[in-house]
Amino acid sequence: AKDMGGNTVELFTSSMTHSARARLQTEAGLRNALAHSEFLLHYQPIVELKSGRVTSVEALLRWQPSQGNLVPPAQFIPVAEETGLIVPIGEWVLQEACRQARRWQDQGYDTLQIAVNLSIRQFADPSLVATVRDALQSSGCNPASLQLEITESMVMQDAQGALNTMHQLTELGVQFSIDDFGTGYSSLSYLKRLPVHKLKIDRSFIGEIETDENDRAIVDAIQTLARKLTLRTVAEGVETDAQLDILRELGCDAYQGYLFSRPVAATDIARLLSNMPA
Ligand code: C2E
Ligand code: CA
Ligand code: CA
Ligand code: CA
Repeated sequence: AKDMGGNTVELFTSSMTHSARARLQTEAGLRNALAHSEFLLHYQPIVELKSGRVTSVEALLRWQPSQGNLVPPAQFIPVAEETGLIVPIGEWVLQEACRQARRWQDQGYDTLQIAVNLSIRQFADPSLVATVRDALQSSGCNPASLQLEITESMVMQDAQGALNTMHQLTELGVQFSIDDFGTGYSSLSYLKRLPVHKLKIDRSFIGEIETDENDRAIVDAIQTLARKLTLRTVAEGVETDAQLDILRELGCDAYQGYLFSRPVAATDIARLLSNMPA
């Protein structure tokens, strides 16, 4: 037993060393990426169920190192969050999304909204309001076209601070969505106090909605809640027509998922917007 204990400790230590080294490497990579513009945004359409029109797109961060493959956010956002690098990275995301919104506005898509994800660090950062104001002003994009996605846990962490930040940002003209709705440990009472426009129903409730009665009941309950509070709903991760049919039946306002389109480069969005009033 002693030997086994010794081995366990040794394994544990070397794996820690390995993960610590990987973390340091990612951190250095992220600093380099910021300095050398290795980030880019992909956009995933959000489709209104009634009209079948793309009414908004979600900006999703990608990292393209000078050598190697495109890195998905799950592989670097946790490190960016831990090191605080998410604040300058998030600032770049806001600026780039607003620049792109302005380009689409200039092409005549002036009702298209762009949703940007905020991280917990960014949302708590006192400079956020100034950052958003600056991104809107320097791009000249219409503030009403910017949506910010936050999660329930970000609100619960500091409810009063969240309320203040959200009111200031709402005064700038931007709107809020609650991302991954239904997955946080939160009381629902915050929903009536916060300036929120949309609930994005987490994709964990959608994947098996065809067969899982509980998932369907949860989505149904979210719909009822949203209707009473006059919030719009977006179902995330819709992959099949059968899922879409159920969501339509339940009264969902919009959907997002591989069924319509994966996240794509800005230049590929134009053909998906061709059915929009320009
Ligand atoms: P999220 O905000 O929930 O974004 C939706 C994720 O679901 C995206 O993953 C998208 O590609 C994926 N997705 C969309 N449709 C489907 C579908 O039909 N099936 C499946 N299986 N997946 C689908 P992605 O782009 O890898 O982003 C992962 C997460 O990284 C995001 O989850 C968000 O939390 C975070 N993230 C992405 N961009 C940013 C950013 O600019 N800033 C911050 N702070 N976080 C970001
Ligand atoms: Ca999101
Ligand atoms: Ca989500
Ligand atoms: Ca998320």
